[in-house]
Amino acid sequence: SRKIAVKNPVVDLDGDEMTRIIWQRIKDKLILPYLDIDIKYYDLGMENRDKTDDKVTLDAAEAIKAYKVGIKCATITPDTARVKEFGLKQKWKSPNGTIRNALNGTVFREPIFIGNVPRFIPAWKKPIIIARHAFGDQYKSTDFEVDGPGKYEVTFTPTGSSDVSMRKTVFDFKGPGVGLAMFNTKDSITAFAHACFKMAIDRKLPLYLGTKSTVISTYDAYWDKIFIQLYDAEYKAEFEKLGIWYEHRLVDDMVAQLVKMEGGLILALGNMLGDIISDLVAQGCGSLALMSSVLVAKGERPGEFIYESEAAHGTVTRHFRQHQQGKATSTNPIASIYAWTRGLMHRAQLDDTPELEAFAQNLEAACIESVMEGTMTKDLAISIHGNNAGPETYVTTDEYIAEVARRLATRQAASS
Ligand code: NAD
Repeated sequence: SRKIAVKNPVVDLDGDEMTRIIWQRIKDKLILPYLDIDIKYYDLGMENRDKTDDKVTLDAAEAIKAYKVGIKCATITPDTARVKEFGLKQKWKSPNGTIRNALNGTVFREPIFIGNVPRFIPAWKKPIIIARHAFGDQYKSTDFEVDGPGKYEVTFTPTGSSDVSMRKTVFDFKGPGVGLAMFNTKDSITAFAHACFKMAIDRKLPLYLGTKSTVISTYDAYWDKIFIQLYDAEYKAEFEKLGIWYEHRLVDDMVAQLVKMEGGLILALGNMLGDIISDLVAQGCGSLALMSSVLVAKGERPGEFIYESEAAHGTVTRHFRQHQQGKATSTNPIASIYAWTRGLMHRAQLDDTPELEAFAQNLEAACIESVMEGTMTKDLAISIHGNNAGPETYVTTDEYIAEVARRLATRQAASS
């Protein structure tokens, strides 16, 4: 049958180990049979990153900027053991960090809810998307120990001046203790706010910003000040048209509500809260293999956004070792498939191709429906049946992908 013409390219960032094996299967069985698509391929596998002195990662980031859609497989972030295993020239940095810095983007994490897969928080049914402002704050702070009494001050000296324009006493130490000084920037918070408003519009979900501005009345309130200004100036009209809203909430109230609610929101958080609460949501949803992730960055032209989508999990090394011994594994490919569907949905939106969007939606539905009707990988079988889930309760990765392919074919045939 006729393939869907994808008007512009997508950037494919290949990765490592078990997820690399799955990546190829996804393309062969679920993507290429349906799409006439120009894939710009970058091999971010460990060997090629080492061979190119990690230039391939920077090239891939540039390509994502140019084409506005990147779809990424999980990659190894080398530690000392990996340096030895692969005989690396050096301990290369995390490709995700490199790409995030190059695009100056915001990471949105979203668990994939499937009706019959139990959740630690059973009330959750609708999307819960956590946006973490992964810049500055505690993670780039200067912290120190003091060993006795003394005055801890902060000062600010404007560029071009030799005079201190601000001096504040933080604390008069009467004895030993610790201190920490941190910062953030208007540019970074503004980019974060744009990405959050954009995501809210795309997903037609209300946006909440959680801070502790009652206590941290200048630092935390600065986020709300920037969000509300941008909202009023650029986004409010469109939000109202879609029946969604932006609100600032105290983070403690927000978290208390989050564990009781059905979901259906985007929650924007600072660096440390975002780190903690995204892990809480990941655990609450039950499976690491069901966590999807997109990086959203502002493009060069106004109103234009760049998406990079990926699974939140790693390369599933434990399964790869079995695969290397010639054993079939039951690795869950759902989050990797969602990397493709979410990337393709953004492509469809940029190019105004509803047919491509419908395809991506059918592929997601095929993944969910398959699990709902009993065909799933071992991790999900265990979360449904417990640790002694027998081999009759799950299938191999290839069998699961074949089932998804079958259901996708039926859906595509029905919609064309
Ligand atoms: P991992 O996410 O690969 O696996 C952790 C455990 O979670 C596994 O033992 C497995 O039980 C389970 N799991 C994760 N994904 C699964 C799936 N799809 N199906 C079934 N079970 C799944 O994390 P790790 O073992 O700590 O790291 C392995 C490698 O991945 C490391 O080299 C690390 O650097 C890399 N990593 C990459 C990313 C990324 O590219 N985004 C993220 C995390 C880790």
